[in-house]
Amino acid sequence: MVADLKARGAIRSPQVEAAMLHVPRHLFVPERCRPLAYRDSPLPIAAGQTISAPHMVAMMAEALDLRPGQRVLEVGTGSGYNAAVMAELVGDGKVVTIERHPSLAEEAAKALREAGYDNVRVVVGDGSLGFEEEAPYDRISVTCGAPEVPGPLLEQLKEGGTMVVPVGGLTYQSLLRVRKREGRVETEDLGPVVFVPLLGERGHRRSQ
Ligand code: SAH
Repeated sequence: MVADLKARGAIRSPQVEAAMLHVPRHLFVPERCRPLAYRDSPLPIAAGQTISAPHMVAMMAEALDLRPGQRVLEVGTGSGYNAAVMAELVGDGKVVTIERHPSLAEEAAKALREAGYDNVRVVVGDGSLGFEEEAPYDRISVTCGAPEVPGPLLEQLKEGGTMVVPVGGLTYQSLLRVRKREGRVETEDLGPVVFVPLLGERGHRRSQ
């Protein structure tokens, strides 16, 4: 899988390559999907949600330029797989990941423990408001589609920090890279993507 992602350009750095080689993706997918764990495909998880395709996880990790020691917020824990890849990349740093479905958060925390990641904190809550308690963050990874860049996330991003966030409608979004530089916000469009919706106070007004 990793060789294929490299050949297709989704993995560009040796750091992301090493991280993806280390994380056992099969621990993060439902048992019946395990034979498919190392295909480059999104898969269904509980609560009608999905674990992102590996190429998307790789692309987001590359776009974030994660470094050891950084403090990262992920919005949308889902399976916990993306959190695990980021945990590899920040090493002695920390990943805080927030999920609105308690059952998913619980499963993800279990898989992260089983895989040996003790630098990840899984929180249940509305990630469209960020997570003030551990702010500010060097990096923010939003793995669900938002109607716009959520203001609270921008506030909780450090000066010099970077956020990736899919922004758009319910069917598809643009993956934005947002950087805070000298008090200014720079936004770059990395291309079209498809994510499940960000719900909650600053998300799409739709129950799911
Ligand atoms: N990063 C995940 C993929 C997540 S799918 C992985 O690696 O598997 C997106 C997740 O975002 C879903 O689990 C969904 O429940 C969650 N989500 C949607 N809106 C949210 C919100 N406001 N706060 C926290 N989580 C949210």
